[in-house]
Amino acid sequence: MMKKTDLSLTLFQTGYCVHPEKVTVKDGSWKKVKFPALVGLIEHPEKGYILFDTGYAEHFFAASRKFPYSIYPKVTPVYFEDEQSIKNQLSAKGIYPEDISYIIISHFHGDHIGGLLDFPKSTYICFKRAYQFIKDKKGFSAIKNGYLPDLLPKDFLERVIFLEEGDGSQLSDDFSPFTEGWDIFQDGSLFAVDLTGHAIGQMGIFLHDSKMDCVFLCADACWQSRAYREKVFPNPLAYLIMPDVRSYQENLIRLHQLHEHHPKWKILPTHCQEIWRNDQ
Ligand SMILES: [Zn+2]
Repeated sequence: MMKKTDLSLTLFQTGYCVHPEKVTVKDGSWKKVKFPALVGLIEHPEKGYILFDTGYAEHFFAASRKFPYSIYPKVTPVYFEDEQSIKNQLSAKGIYPEDISYIIISHFHGDHIGGLLDFPKSTYICFKRAYQFIKDKKGFSAIKNGYLPDLLPKDFLERVIFLEEGDGSQLSDDFSPFTEGWDIFQDGSLFAVDLTGHAIGQMGIFLHDSKMDCVFLCADACWQSRAYREKVFPNPLAYLIMPDVRSYQENLIRLHQLHEHHPKWKILPTHCQEIWRNDQ
């Protein structure tokens, strides 16, 4: 059961990439649009600071310099200034890497794990299936899955908590159509669900924020809010590099149903411009 723990969520933009809109929503235009890479900072009264993903950082460029990794920033050109890294934005607020107790990794794409190396003490939380899917990928097979191996810290396995190694639980009707979740800290404050599709083992999290109230961070289960609101699927081109198209579509329908049946949940896709503008 979810408890109203007093969490506070702040969003940060860590740069953006550009891509034709039509790839992400099939009725969109071919015009290139900006996709901000957002990071969530969650303040938990007992667990301290928790990051939801880490966005872009300088490491992303170092890791994608050599061929074939250099294909990645060519397909989705990235606009980033060093002061936009989550480490630097937090430091400017007096929050330092050692203050971040946990990093929740939604999935292992370069624009979500770009800053992991900047937080050498934090404990990672993710789904094991997400890690297992990418761990041995290198070269073209890594790139095809949006993964840049150099972004993964060498001591990753010593610092990670795989949620499936604990018990999952049946979610209440409040979350329907999502039925199975993981109570991350076993205190009812943060619930993780599996949003496989865009990536295997992609994780979304539900939380109660003291300002925005009920929030669902859905990572890249869709790229724009309009997609879940109006149930708009991506262009078939986007499916070419998607590891599980059927689950992607099923999860987009679930997001749509959640929005229709439980409008109290504010659904936040990581790359939606609308979210970033509204948060300003
Ligand atoms: Zn992604």
